[in-house]
Amino acid sequence: MATERQRERFPYSTTPLRPYSTLIIFSDFDGTITQQDVTDRILEELAHPLWREVEDEWVRGLIGSRECLERQMALVDASPEELNEVIDAIPLDPAFASFYQFVEREKIPFYVVSDGFDYVVSRILKRAGVGGELENGRHLYASHLEISGRRLAASFPHSDCEHGCATCKATVIKRLRRERSRVVFIGDGFSDRFAVEEADVVFAKKQLLGYCRRRNIACRAFETFADVQAKLGSAAAGRGKKPSRQGAKAPRAATVSRIE
Ligand SMILES: [Mg+2]
Ligand SMILES: [Zn+2]
Repeated sequence: MATERQRERFPYSTTPLRPYSTLIIFSDFDGTITQQDVTDRILEELAHPLWREVEDEWVRGLIGSRECLERQMALVDASPEELNEVIDAIPLDPAFASFYQFVEREKIPFYVVSDGFDYVVSRILKRAGVGGELENGRHLYASHLEISGRRLAASFPHSDCEHGCATCKATVIKRLRRERSRVVFIGDGFSDRFAVEEADVVFAKKQLLGYCRRRNIACRAFETFADVQAKLGSAAAGRGKKPSRQGAKAPRAATVSRIE
C-alpha cells in the first residue's frame, strides 16, 4: 500500500531530507488557501437543500467527489451576481499572499490542485493578488464551471482515476513531479487523502491532520501559510549558504537542505 511506501521513504522521525533536493509544492484550495470551503458556501447559500443528501453519500463513500459535485452544482439556482457575491465574501488565509511572494521569489514551483472550480479559484486568487503561472491558469488544476443564466454545469478535465475524484490530485502530482524533486503537499480535507500518499512532505490541518495521524502518515500540523513558510524557509537559507559562483547561472529552483 502506498502508505507503507511513504513510511519507508519518509519515516516519522525528523530525518533530514536529502540535501539540495528540488522542491515542488502542491496545495489544496478550499479550506487551505481559503478559510472556508467555497463550494459548500455556494451550496448553502444558493442550492436546493437536497445537496446535503448528496454530500452525505460522498462522506459515506458511496460516490466519488466527481459525481458528488456534478449532482450538487446542478442544484444551484442563482444569477452570476449572486454567485460572485458569495465568492467575494470568502476570507483567505491571511498569510497566503506573502507565502505566494515567497515561492515566486525562491522560484519554487507552486501548483493549486482543487476539486473546486476554476472560475471560483481564479476569482479568489486574483483578489489575493497572485500573478505568474497561477494567474494565467497554467499551475491551476481544478474542476470546470460553466455558467449559463441561473444554472451551473460542472465538468472535470483532471478526473482520470479509479477513485472517482473530481480532480485527481494524486494523478496530477505523479504527472508533474520530477526525478529527485521533493513533493510538498498542503491540505486540510478528506479530498486530499490520495494526494498525501504521493507527497514526500505533508502539511496538514483539520480533517486531513486527523486522517494522517490515524493512518500513521508522516505530516506536519499547520494553521496558516506562515507556519508552512517558516518550515520551508530553510530552503531559502540552504540556497543562501551555498558558495556563490560568480558568473554561474542562478539556480532554477530553491533547494532544501533540511525540513524538520
Ligand atoms: Mg480543502
Ligand atoms: Zn483520484
